[in-house]
Amino acid sequence: MQLSTPIDRLPKTASRTIQRLKAVGIHTYDDLIHYYPFRYNDFSVVSDIAHVQPGETVTVRGRIDSIRTIPTRKRITIQKALLCDDSGTLELVWYNQPYLIHLMENHACVSASGLIETFSKIKSMKPTEYEILDSINSDTKHTGKIVAVYPSVYGLSSKTIREKIYYVLDSIIHNSRESIEYIPEKILHKHLLIDLQKALISIHTPQTPAEVEKAKQRLGFDELFIRILSSRLIKKRWSQEKTTSPITVSTIIKNTVQTFIQTLPYHLTPAQNRVIKEILGDMQKKKPMNRFLQGDVGSGKTVVATIAAYVTYLNSKQTLIMAPTEILAQQHFATISALTKNTQLKIALQTGSHKDIESKSTASSFDIIIGTHALISTKYDFRNVALVIIDEQHRFGVKQRALLKEKGINPHLLSMTATPIPRTVSLTLYSELDLSVIDEMPKGRKTIKTYVTPSEKRADGYRWITQQIKDYGVQAYIICPLIELSDHESMSSVKAAKNEFEHLRKNVFPTLNIALLHGKMKSKEKEEVMKQFKNKMHNILVSTSVVEVGVDVPNATIMLIEGAERYGLAQLHQLRGRVGRAEKQSYCLLFMSSKDSNSSRLRFFAKTNSGLALSELDLKIRGPGEMYGKQQHGYADLKIADLTNTKQVFEARQAVDQFFDNYSLDATPRLKQIIDSYQINLIAKN
Ligand code: ADP
Ligand code: MG
Repeated sequence: MQLSTPIDRLPKTASRTIQRLKAVGIHTYDDLIHYYPFRYNDFSVVSDIAHVQPGETVTVRGRIDSIRTIPTRKRITIQKALLCDDSGTLELVWYNQPYLIHLMENHACVSASGLIETFSKIKSMKPTEYEILDSINSDTKHTGKIVAVYPSVYGLSSKTIREKIYYVLDSIIHNSRESIEYIPEKILHKHLLIDLQKALISIHTPQTPAEVEKAKQRLGFDELFIRILSSRLIKKRWSQEKTTSPITVSTIIKNTVQTFIQTLPYHLTPAQNRVIKEILGDMQKKKPMNRFLQGDVGSGKTVVATIAAYVTYLNSKQTLIMAPTEILAQQHFATISALTKNTQLKIALQTGSHKDIESKSTASSFDIIIGTHALISTKYDFRNVALVIIDEQHRFGVKQRALLKEKGINPHLLSMTATPIPRTVSLTLYSELDLSVIDEMPKGRKTIKTYVTPSEKRADGYRWITQQIKDYGVQAYIICPLIELSDHESMSSVKAAKNEFEHLRKNVFPTLNIALLHGKMKSKEKEEVMKQFKNKMHNILVSTSVVEVGVDVPNATIMLIEGAERYGLAQLHQLRGRVGRAEKQSYCLLFMSSKDSNSSRLRFFAKTNSGLALSELDLKIRGPGEMYGKQQHGYADLKIADLTNTKQVFEARQAVDQFFDNYSLDATPRLKQIIDSYQINLIAKN
C-alpha cells in the first residue's frame, strides 16, 4: 500500500465520509496523514473508578452494567449508563445518542475519558471520548492517552477523522521508515530534526508534549523547505530563459524619459527613482524580469509603472497593465492617460463593460492596454507585448508566465502591491522574485489621524463629519462591515450596505449628497459613481470594502470604517490609505459593530502608520492563513510552520542552500515528486 492511495479505498468508510474529507482537500492517504491536530486532550491518567475525584480529567475502564434512555421535555434524550470495575461504579451520561443503547447493552467493555463531576453526591462523567473495547485489556485509541483533536470537517467528528488517520498510520507509516523519508539524512542531522516517520507518528499519537514539539519542528521545517526549494528552482529556471522582447535604454531614450519626468506635476521621490532604475536595469537584460514592487498605499507606484511602460513604448513594444477590479483598471486608465497626455502614447481600456479593442487585430494599435486580471486570458494578439504589469495580485508569476508563453511571449513581469510583505514571507514564499521597495512617501504628506471611536461618540462623529464637509469641502468614505469573511462580496454584505446607506441618507446626513457603491452593481454604474465622487458630486461615498485597493480621490480626507474589528490590519491599512493622498490633514474613524469587541488591536493600528509593522503584527496574531482572507494569497497552505519564527525560516533557507550544494533532485526522487506536485498545485490554485 502507498501514500498515494486515494481515500476512496479506506476500509469500512461511508462514501459520505469520503466526500466530506475530499471537500476539505483530503484526497489521498498522504493528504490524510498531513491533516494535523490543532490541539490534544491529555487523557493519559487512568484511574480506578473508586479513586476518581470531581474536577479530575481521567480515563476509566470497565463493563457497562446497565444503560437506558431518558426522554426529556425538550427534544433531547439522555443516555445514562453505569460503568463498573473491580473498585466501584461510575455514571456515564450522554445526550442524544440513543444508538448507544444497542452498542452497550450486552455488558460491553468501555473505556471513557472526561471530566469527573458530581450530581447530588453521585459521581458521573460526560465522556469527551469513549470507545468500546473487544476485551477489558484491549489497546485503546481514543482514550487512556494523549489524544489528538482535529480541526472539524463539516459533518465529521474528530473521532472519525482520528480513526481514519490511525488506519493509515498502522497500515503504512509504522512499517515504512525508509520509503517515506525524502530529506537527506545529513540535512536532518545538521538541523537536529527527527525523521518523517517518527514525526508523523508523534504528531498524531504523541506520548508526551515534548514529542509534539519535536514533530512540529520537523513538519514545519518541511513546509518551509519545500516552498523555498520550489521558489529557488523556479528562479533558476527563469534565469535560464530568454525574454522574447529585450529592451534598450539608449541615450536618446534616456533623454526622452528625463524630459517626460520633468513634465510630471511633482518631483519623483528618491525611492521612486531608485526602483525605476532597478526596473529598467532588469528590462535591459536578456532574461525576463520578475520583479515585485512594494510600496505603501499612496507611495506612488502608478507613476513608476507608467515610466516603465513609456520606455517600453519608446522601444516600439506594448505594455499590458492588469488591475484586480474594473474600477481600478478605469482609474489607472485615467491616471496614466493624464500623465502621458503630452506624448503620442495610445492607451486602451479593456474591461467587461468598456472595450476599446474591438477585434484581435486592433490590439496591436495600442501602446498600453489596461484591463482587469482577466486580460491575460483573452485571445488578442500579444506578440508585441514586452512588459506586463500586474497590480495588487499577491501571488503571481508561475501561472501568468505559463499563460503568456501559450501566447508565444515571455515578457518582463512587474507585480505591484501596497501590502508590505513581511521579510520572512518574501524570503520563503516569494523568493523567486526580485524585490523593489518604495520606502518613503512623497513630501508633504501628513500622517492620517486615526481614532477608535466608542459607540457613545457615534453621533458626535457624524456631526463632526458634516461640519468638516461643510467647512472645508472635503469628502468622506463610509465603509460597511464585512458580513462574511470571504474575498467575494456576499449578498448579505450588499444588503447591509444598502440599509446603512438608506439610514445615513435619511437620518444622519439629510443635507448632504451621498452615494452607494458595492460589488454587485453593474460595472458601468460603479464607474459612474466613482467618477461622480471624484468630481465632487457626492460628499460621502458609502461602500462595501470594494474601494479597498487603489482608488485615488485626493479630496477625500475622511475614512469611517464600520465593524473595524472584522478587518485584518493589512486590510484596514489599505482602507485608510484611501485618504491622506494629498496635503490636507486626513482622518480615519474606526467604529466597532459590537461593544465588547477587543479594541487593543485597533488601538495599535491607530498609532501605527507603517504598513510593514502592521502586516507583521497581522501575521503574528491572525496567522498566515488569514492575512487577507483565505484564498487570496499563497500563505494559507502553511499548516505548522510559523512565518514569524525567523530562526526557523533561516534554518530552512540554509538547508536549501545545503541541498543545492550537495544533492540534486534527480538523486532524491521522492523529494522531486513532492516538489512537482507542490508546483502543480500552486499553478492550479492561482
Ligand atoms: P499607490 O502607490 O498607492 O498606487 P499612487 O500611484 O496612486 O499610489 O499615488 C498616490 C498619489 O500620490 C497620487 O495622487 C499621485 O499623483 C501622487 N504622487 C505620486 N508620486 C508623487 C511624488 N513623487 N510627489 C508627490 N505626489 C506624488
Ligand atoms: Mg495603486
